[in-house]
Amino acid sequence: MFLKTSIATVEQFQELFGDQFQTYVNLDRYTSARVGGPAEMFLTVHSAAELQTAVELAYSRHIPYFILGGGSNILVADQGISGLVIMNKAKAVRYRSNGVNVICVVESGMNLSSLARQCIGKGLGGLEWAIGVPGTVGGAVVGNSGAHGADMNSNLLAAQIWEPGRGVRMYSNEEMRYGYRDSILKREHGKNISRRVVLSAELQLKPEPVDVLAARADAFNTHRKQTQPGGASTGSMFKNPENYYAGYLIDTAGLKGLRFGGAAISQKHANFFINEGGASAEEIRALIAEAWNSVREQFGVEMDLEVEMVGEWNFD
Ligand SMILES: Cc1cc2nc3c(=O)[nH]c(=O)nc-3n(C[C@H](O)[C@H](O)[C@H](O)COP(=O)(O)OP(=O)(O)OC[C@H]3O[C@@H](n4cnc5c(N)ncnc54)[C@H](O)[C@@H]3O)c2cc1C
Repeated sequence: MFLKTSIATVEQFQELFGDQFQTYVNLDRYTSARVGGPAEMFLTVHSAAELQTAVELAYSRHIPYFILGGGSNILVADQGISGLVIMNKAKAVRYRSNGVNVICVVESGMNLSSLARQCIGKGLGGLEWAIGVPGTVGGAVVGNSGAHGADMNSNLLAAQIWEPGRGVRMYSNEEMRYGYRDSILKREHGKNISRRVVLSAELQLKPEPVDVLAARADAFNTHRKQTQPGGASTGSMFKNPENYYAGYLIDTAGLKGLRFGGAAISQKHANFFINEGGASAEEIRALIAEAWNSVREQFGVEMDLEVEMVGEWNFD
């Protein structure tokens, strides 16, 4: 099923990136749901410059590429992903002050929750909501991740973005066109195009006492642990439809605990679909279909997926 990438292209990646480049790497270990087949080509990058070099090379060779952050908002097909998967480990962080606020300039592969902890330790407020949100800054910039009444939209001043065929430019917050778990970049999902890539982000932070920030983060974390199940999952599967909670609808449709193979709808929170061991992406997809159809039949509500289904799915 996979493209027959030319040997010359593979050699070019090997020459540029050495051991960072591999072929046919299973993706289950790199996704929070612990499912997903192989990436035809798999490259780990450690800086925004490497990330840019990699996507530019892939784009110039007409190779489809996919940026993998923490893999916490995607469901990768059992058949895997053709082309190049770039695992983003670009993590450099620096801070600068404008006299009143502090701006954090962070590469997109930085773990969001670790960054939030780092900021709290420095007495910089604004990212406490992100404690416990898995994944990278890049994934959060794309998906406008959020929790506890705040989201990326409330922090992001600007993002440095690579545009296919054009190069790099800064996007202002307004240009990101943020909505609920949505952005101009997220809306590119599912289209047969080369997607834009977030290289780094500038986040606005406000000096506050460390103990105040730490207490706020602790309260958020406690709430998260009380309301969300542990285990391997993609977090919330569906977006909350207007005036509803997706979890409430799935629960009321009687689907808590529904299981297909190793995949089950959580008893604790019905919008979490858990890989209880050995689940396939197909089994999770079957749960998604069951939940979507049941909610539509019973409530007339058509839910939108929050999670992106990526790779070689057979939709026949
Ligand atoms: C247990 C659990 C709890 C969660 N809780 C929350 C929550 O409270 N709030 C919330 O909003 N989300 C939550 N999520 C979902 C997830 O953590 C977020 O959506 C997160 O921001 C995804 O980041 P990621 O790096 O894992 O993205 P990935 O899943 O790796 O990628 C998601 C999409 O973003 C793209 N992408 C990633 N990095 C870049 C980049 N640098 N440039 C361009 N595109 C990029 C990918 O190609 C893909 O299309 C939860 C998930 C889990 C498993």
